Amino acid sequence: MNFSVLASGSSGNSIYIESRRARILIDAGLSGKQIEERLKQVGGNPASLTAILVTHEHIDHVKGIGVLARRYQIPIYMNEATWKHLPRSVGAIPEPLQKIFESNSIIELEDLQIESIPISHDAAEPVAFSIHYEQESMAVVTDLGYVSERIIQKVTGVDTLIWECNHDVEMLRIGSYPWNVKRRILSDLGHLSNDDSGEALTNILRGKGEQVYLAHLSKDNNLSELAHLTVKEILTEAGLSVGKDVQLFETYPHRPTPLKPVRLR
Ligand SMILES: [Zn+2]
Ligand SMILES: [Zn+2]
Repeated sequence: MNFSVLASGSSGNSIYIESRRARILIDAGLSGKQIEERLKQVGGNPASLTAILVTHEHIDHVKGIGVLARRYQIPIYMNEATWKHLPRSVGAIPEPLQKIFESNSIIELEDLQIESIPISHDAAEPVAFSIHYEQESMAVVTDLGYVSERIIQKVTGVDTLIWECNHDVEMLRIGSYPWNVKRRILSDLGHLSNDDSGEALTNILRGKGEQVYLAHLSKDNNLSELAHLTVKEILTEAGLSVGKDVQLFETYPHRPTPLKPVRLR
C-alpha cells in the first residue's frame, strides 16, 4: 500500500492511498481542480478512484467532494450525521454515490479494510480512520481536541501515522486570534498542540520504524521546525530514537508528499 498526503492544514486536507485493487482519498478539502492536479503529480488518476471517505464536514475536508463525485462518479462515504451537516457549497451529490457508514465499523473496499474511530472535535460526528491492507496498516488522525484511550488502542502498531500537530500553545496564546477562537482551538473539541501530539505518540509508537507524518499544522500558530523539534524532544525523552526507531516527516499545505510505501521495514 502506498500513500501521499496531497494537502494538509486549514487551507485543505486530502490523503491519497493505493493498494493493488483500490485507490481512495481520505477527505478532499481542496477544489476539484487542485485535487486532480496533485493526484497527477503523484501518479494518481482521479478517474480511477474507488471512493472518497470523509472524516467530518468542515470545508477544509470536503470542499472538492461534490465536484469529484459528479465529474467521475466516485462514491462518497461518510456517517449519517456528517451527510446531514455538509456545507451547501459542496453541491448536490447524486444519490447512488451517497454511501453511509456507521462510526466504529469497518468498511470493506476491494482489498482494503477501513475502520472509522470516533474523535472529539467541533463537528457533527467526526472520525479518524485506520486502513489495513494485507499485513500493512496506516491511520489518519487529525482534527481532535484530545487523544482518547480508544484512539491509542486502535492505532498502536500501525506502520504509518498521519498525525495532527496543530499548534504551539505559546504561539497561539500570544497570537492575534480572538479569545473565543483561541479557547475553541485549545478545548477538547479543538485541535492537538505540539506537546499533546508528542505525548500521545509516546503511548502509540513501538519504535519498530514507524513513519509519522506531522499534519494539519496551523499556518498562524505553528512552524514546521518547531513542531518537529517539540515532538522529537518528547519522543527522545521517552527513549525513542528519531531517525532510527521512528521516522518523522512533514506535510505541506501547498504540495503533496512523495508517494511512498506505508511500510518501510
Ligand atoms: Zn481540519
Ligand atoms: Zn475540523
